[in-house]
Amino acid sequence: MPAAGKPGRDCPRCPRLVAYREALRVKEPTWFNAPVPSFGSIDARLLVVGLAPGVQGANRTGRPFTGDYAGVLLYETLSLYGFANGKFDARIDDGLELIDCRITNAVRCVPPENKPLPVEINTCRDFLNPTIAEMKNLKAIVVLGHVAHNSVVSAFGAKKSQTPFKHAGKNMLGELALFSSYHCSRYNTNTGVLTTPMFRDVFEKVRRYLDEKQPSAL
Ligand code: SF4
Repeated sequence: MPAAGKPGRDCPRCPRLVAYREALRVKEPTWFNAPVPSFGSIDARLLVVGLAPGVQGANRTGRPFTGDYAGVLLYETLSLYGFANGKFDARIDDGLELIDCRITNAVRCVPPENKPLPVEINTCRDFLNPTIAEMKNLKAIVVLGHVAHNSVVSAFGAKKSQTPFKHAGKNMLGELALFSSYHCSRYNTNTGVLTTPMFRDVFEKVRRYLDEKQPSAL
């Protein structure tokens, strides 16, 4: 029985993703192959929202951004700005800890070719909403990519025209700061859409914002 607000391993709500998941369970029976849970404490002030599990990354290991390239830059940057501690080794048992930070995805199940359909993004928002709501200390969200940005904006019932996506930009959602970033995918970094300094710029702003609000006691 899944916990309230969290998808069970066999969440049936997106038929296309369920079919993909089932096929992966047959092909790769040792992989996680289920909706990937959020990583980090619900007491954190920062939530990072990605797109969806990568097939050989979070879908394989069961931890967001763990096992494929996107996590290397993300966890390295989180560590640099004091949001993670320990050595990231792309394994769920590498001992890495998040500090005052939690990571989730807009879509919990791996989509074919990393491309969830609009209906799947909308459906899985039923799990993003409670993920946000249960974080009582939440002060800032970093969204990775347009899909995550738009899904979070919709989760708050805000207008997209008034909360535009801009890399390293900040919008306010009521009392909450929304920082936007290009997704740290291999494609974006290989093509130069996102560079390491550009990504660090986002988290430097987040660090400063949170420290100005209240230095972390964690
Ligand atoms: S993407 Fe979300 S809503 Fe869709 S099947 Fe997976 S957990 Fe359920």
